[in-house]
Amino acid sequence: MTFLTALILFFIIGAWGLETWVSKLNLQSLKQPIPASFKHAVDAEKYAKSQAYTRHNDKLAFISGFVNVIAVVLCLLLGIFNIFNEWAAAIFNGQIMQGLAFFGIVSLASMLISLPFSIYKTFVIEEKYGFNRTTPKLFITDRLKGILLGVILGAPLAAGILWFFQTFATFGWLIAWGFATAFLFAVQYVAPIWIMPLFNKFTPLEDGELRKAIEGFAHKNGFNISGIFIIDGSKRSNKANAFFTGFGKQKRIALFDTLVNTMSTEEIVGVLAHEIGHCKLNHIKRMFLTSIITTGITFFCLSLVLKYEPLYAAFHIEHVTIAVGMVLFNFLYTPLSLIMTIIASHQSRKYEFEADAFAARTTGNPSALSKALIKLSVNSLSNLTPHPAYVALHYSHPPVVSRIKALNKIKATQ
Ligand SMILES: [Zn+2]
Repeated sequence: MTFLTALILFFIIGAWGLETWVSKLNLQSLKQPIPASFKHAVDAEKYAKSQAYTRHNDKLAFISGFVNVIAVVLCLLLGIFNIFNEWAAAIFNGQIMQGLAFFGIVSLASMLISLPFSIYKTFVIEEKYGFNRTTPKLFITDRLKGILLGVILGAPLAAGILWFFQTFATFGWLIAWGFATAFLFAVQYVAPIWIMPLFNKFTPLEDGELRKAIEGFAHKNGFNISGIFIIDGSKRSNKANAFFTGFGKQKRIALFDTLVNTMSTEEIVGVLAHEIGHCKLNHIKRMFLTSIITTGITFFCLSLVLKYEPLYAAFHIEHVTIAVGMVLFNFLYTPLSLIMTIIASHQSRKYEFEADAFAARTTGNPSALSKALIKLSVNSLSNLTPHPAYVALHYSHPPVVSRIKALNKIKATQ
């Protein structure tokens, strides 16, 4: 075993160990009593159900994480990536086509490994706790559409990146970075028009009290929206949500039917005011900028590693290609990628507090958003007492109890 093999094994097993340890802390933190702000909203039975739901999901995450680590370690020690690479070389000629075939085989293998877990999650866990509405037919068509999209969007992106890295030796990473950024920007632009309707039906919200209240709020705050839509989230799950899509004048509001059915008008306006806050406070642009910077750092590090022979030797690779280098680089990159994820999640949680404050200020009604958040958490059996280390590692949103506390503070000063 080379030093590099040992180092990569250490990264992979270390990341999994950290993950397992933090999950354990999270399960211990689950033993706390019902938080004060939720005492009126959940009874002992419902609270116990939310704790059981967290434990059940945690168990699944542990097993799937374990299987993944075993799979990666086997790939490393038995030279399985080399076998995949030789298959790709047997099918196609040329770096780019071979590279795409290699990516295809690796993606397929990783999908096959994760498939049983996502079946279990949807049809056993979500079913048991009363969330699942996905039929097996919908599950299969969703997967197939996902694969098709992965091929249609992923293949040109991957081909471009491979080509730039191959053609421009020193600055290939810089040009590939520019290309990937432009590509991802274009995808964000067409997503609401071409991609999302493949998965959900968007129906314009009918005239009425809700529409009037939303338009009134948007108008008062100088916010232009091109449409308000109801989407059929209920065909997959009973969980509720709302989001924004599109840029510039093409901004659309999408409300899950499950949200509209369970919340009052002032609560929905509170939720939307939060979403509008993300736009008004430039959070969406800044998060996009963060992901551009992250991609740049990743591509630069990749360019340093691509020609590093010992990396290929560690994985028993006989024929070095850029595509193989890109996959192997991921493992070496584990610690830095973990740090960047933690920083980005921290930034995201900070923005959530800011958007809550924006909603409280502009609606003049912090209680409406509080009530909405409590309802959303109770209905989706959220963990009300996550451990701070787990939050730092996994949460893009702050724990709901902290959000309620912050909203109460604003209420007290109004
Ligand atoms: Zn938000």
